[in-house]
Amino acid sequence: MVEPAASQVFDIAIIGGGINGCGIARDAAGRGRSVFLCEQNDLGSGTSSASTKLIHGGLRYLEYYEFRLVREALREREVLWGIAPHIVWPLRFVLPYHRKLRPRWLLRLGLFLYDNIGGRKLLPRTRSVNLHRDVTGGPLKPEFRRGFEYSDCWVEDSRLVVLNASAAASMGAIIAPRTKCVSAEKHGGIWDVTVAGPDGTRAVIQARTLVNAAGPWVDQVVQNVVRDNNRAPVRLVQGSHIVVPRLYEHDGCYIFQNDDKRIFFVIPYEQDFTLIGTTDQDYHGDPADVRASAEEIAYLCRSTSDYLKTPVTPDMVCWTYSGVRPLYAEHEQASGSAAQAATRDYVLKLDAAEGEPPLLTIFGGKITTYRRLAESVLAKLDPHLPAATGKSAGWTGTLPLPGGDFPRDGFDSQLAALERDYPFLPRKQLRRLLRLYGTRSQMILAGAHSSQDLGRDFGAGLSEAELRYLVQHEWARTAADVLWRRTKLGLRLDAPAQAALEEAMRGLVAELVPGPLAMPPSAVVARPTEIEHTR
Ligand code: FAD
Repeated sequence: MVEPAASQVFDIAIIGGGINGCGIARDAAGRGRSVFLCEQNDLGSGTSSASTKLIHGGLRYLEYYEFRLVREALREREVLWGIAPHIVWPLRFVLPYHRKLRPRWLLRLGLFLYDNIGGRKLLPRTRSVNLHRDVTGGPLKPEFRRGFEYSDCWVEDSRLVVLNASAAASMGAIIAPRTKCVSAEKHGGIWDVTVAGPDGTRAVIQARTLVNAAGPWVDQVVQNVVRDNNRAPVRLVQGSHIVVPRLYEHDGCYIFQNDDKRIFFVIPYEQDFTLIGTTDQDYHGDPADVRASAEEIAYLCRSTSDYLKTPVTPDMVCWTYSGVRPLYAEHEQASGSAAQAATRDYVLKLDAAEGEPPLLTIFGGKITTYRRLAESVLAKLDPHLPAATGKSAGWTGTLPLPGGDFPRDGFDSQLAALERDYPFLPRKQLRRLLRLYGTRSQMILAGAHSSQDLGRDFGAGLSEAELRYLVQHEWARTAADVLWRRTKLGLRLDAPAQAALEEAMRGLVAELVPGPLAMPPSAVVARPTEIEHTR
């Protein structure tokens, strides 16, 4: 791992460890760029862990004529499935025809475009469904007789972030979670970037270019870090999800239309649950404080109950989460358009006056298109940097993410191999590990001859060996990092088990992370004091 020399000038400094920041870090590091990324909290703790978790073209965006975005996003489905088959997999969505809402011909046309404009090669095409005969019609009210079924993909969103960060670090990028960028100043064609670790210790690093990938905090960075007087044209739109016990047996998902013209999804989740979302409403608070409101929960329950035979009620909700979309809104702020109508496409603003170091600010974007966004960012920064010496543009679409080095259709054979190698572990536990870590499951399991060899069991198959892996290789530091972003075991561990986990994490961090606890973690991350330099 590269430790920055005291006087190193990074090619790129990135503010924000969400999917966009980490995607840029991976691509840039692969191209031979020196990269520094700081994230004020845990990696993926912003919007990138609060999505619907779909790699999708966005059927709905066709209504807003967002053909560029839809085409690019549709293409990414099979690309991302190919590079990360452990955390990305195909889903089938049923769209029931509702006689009072969009006409059947419009649904058919939208799905025809969806099947044909985005380079679909492996995902199955759209088909019509007789909901009175098909298994997917079972949970629906009898008035829904006909529908369509089409393909999109699932992604474990926060894991996609960490895997991009991990890949970047393995190629020399410095990834500094729990490190906030507090100011960035231009001096002699170079950025002086001041960061503060969790104990307040400050450090300065230097970079030739700076990327503001702060998601919903983009304007805060514009105002408080780079101190530009112009407000960023961003519209913050809240979206919330609810999780309830599994509503039906089959594996299919639903996309339902509402009479407010919105659509929402109902998706089997974590084996025993169903995920329902999302909402769209303007948000004016601090993105860190966003929570699902009682109205949003009631709205999602009511809307789902309009379609399902068995009603969904707020008392069934076991978990909610909420995120803030940082949408580009230059032309919309004044127009008063509905939140769901704001563009989901990304916009990159390059500020590069003669003789000054460039600042690139990111607005909007989808998890689905993060890889293409990264390519566009690097294309904009390239002319301002020395010639790159690493891989060529496009490499991120063919080389696997960590743990994803097996074929798209290879999950079952990987699982069978794990069952052969570790017959003493339940299939459910091995399946969970393979879905999270892919071939890297071996880094947790190797050498174990019994379940006791994996150390203490914290419940639901979470072992000490897994925790050690997460602390050493994935920057996990707290129980919340493990329960909600590296895994979703927060849905299964009760309060005493979570408290025991918190305590164990403190012990493991003290044992495994060099240096003071409060400093940015892991041996792969340079601590601010180590990268401080005098100008
Ligand atoms: P973030 O993930 O928010 O990352 C920005 C990071 O910057 C944060 O972690 C923050 O802590 C950090 N930061 C901010 N300021 C500083 C600072 N000063 N110093 C250091 N760090 C800082 N997209 C899809 O493709 N599919 C979907 O199904 C989907 N569903 C969605 C559902 C909802 C409800 C929402 C809200 C969004 C959804 N999206 C979806 C969109 C997608 O989630 C976002 O576009 C994407 O996650 C944005 O990533 P980001 O990296 O720009 O922002």
